[in-house]
Amino acid sequence: MTGALPVALAAEGVTVTTLVPGYPSVLEALEQHASLRDMPNWFGGPARLLRGRAGLLDLLVLDAPHLYARPGNPYVGPDGRDWPDNAQRFGALARTAADLAMSGEADILHLHDWQAGLAAAYLHQDRGSTPVVTTIHNLAFQGIFPAGALTELRLTPNLFTMDGIEYHGAISMLKAGIFYANAITTVSPGYAQEIATPEGGMGLDGLLRARGSRVTGILNGIDTSAWSPERDPMIDHRFDVAHLQARAANKASLQKYFGLAPDPSAPLCAVISRLTWQKGLDVLLEAVPDLLRNGMQLAVLGSGEPVMQAGFAAEAGGHPGRISCQFGYDEALAHRMQAGADIVLVPSRFEPCGLTQLCALRYGAIPLVARTGGLADTVIDANAAALAAGVATGFQFFPVTRAALSLALHRAASLWQNQPVWRKMQENAMRTDVSWAAPARAYAELFRSVAER
Ligand code: ADP
Repeated sequence: MTGALPVALAAEGVTVTTLVPGYPSVLEALEQHASLRDMPNWFGGPARLLRGRAGLLDLLVLDAPHLYARPGNPYVGPDGRDWPDNAQRFGALARTAADLAMSGEADILHLHDWQAGLAAAYLHQDRGSTPVVTTIHNLAFQGIFPAGALTELRLTPNLFTMDGIEYHGAISMLKAGIFYANAITTVSPGYAQEIATPEGGMGLDGLLRARGSRVTGILNGIDTSAWSPERDPMIDHRFDVAHLQARAANKASLQKYFGLAPDPSAPLCAVISRLTWQKGLDVLLEAVPDLLRNGMQLAVLGSGEPVMQAGFAAEAGGHPGRISCQFGYDEALAHRMQAGADIVLVPSRFEPCGLTQLCALRYGAIPLVARTGGLADTVIDANAAALAAGVATGFQFFPVTRAALSLALHRAASLWQNQPVWRKMQENAMRTDVSWAAPARAYAELFRSVAER
């Protein structure tokens, strides 16, 4: 989002400068930069604030080697646990953002998730007046740290109350971002409603309800220049909505790559996902017999929980030619799967927006999704009314159980038999606007209304 939205916002007359941690890959990508300021002791070590460009983005980079110069994942160490100094790492980032706002460098401060949330608290502490918009990408990650970190984070104790940053005796960075913001967005309207309920609120629903109409949902887009079946350099055979037949060759090469039977008539289902509880893939594992009974094939690309990985590996071993997996993160393969699969499965238990189904729509791979959050907002279920109106783009099921998923798989397999209808669904899917244009308009409008208030 922070890569694509600024570019789309430029078309709306909004200029964005993005502050990011100086991860090794960020510093590598930074072009023609200059050092704006030196901070000799910034949360435990020396730091510099750099200004430069990376591609189409204007960046401010917090170059603090003691906090960010490490290989691998930005949030967790090689052992899969949170980096032990995450409070300092993101406290430093947030404090830098608040300093920039305090020096009058921004009309609006737009914060993303818990990693930036504390900036709203610092600004409040400094009596700053820059309006703050906080975007919640996933409420499951809240940035909770022991109260003992308060001094080190340079926070005054009076903020440590229920009406502030305190959360069950600890500091919550996401709560800070929600509590002190002038407006809060999440990445789909459906998720905005769900997080205001006890079932979906992950302990913050009370606060979100209290923030009332300041909480809204704006759907994410995808980068339609990178995700474009007409031009995609990563796929074997390019296509567009008028030349869908090229998908057959992509399907054949995908079947070959995954070692699946080269059968054009078997609906090829794909999963491209983190393998975690959120994504509901344990339920898909339960439903494998139903998938096979419907004559479908399954190709899985993912990484995550070892137990789930083992589960898919076992199914692949037990059903050669029908089920196959590749574990790891592979951007190019994800593109090839979107271009060749008939169905993309997203059985998430909750999904703030979901990008996989948006890519699937764009590539004419029919999304079969759980009716939750952004999935419910972006896929039109092929029920009788939608089929009669000729507007269906995929399949929805609920609740996230084997029975409901199996029923949806069966519905998909039945409709697959009617290729003209299937083709129409693919065309509808590919014509869906999944770009950042409409979301950028909505953000520009929100920024203007918040600035005027
Ligand atoms: P989340 O951010 O919760 O993981 P999203 O659907 O919002 O889920 O975004 C994840 C994006 O990364 C999607 O576009 C998905 O297809 C892609 N992705 C997930 N796992 C992999 C993987 N192993 N290899 C390549 N792309 C992946």
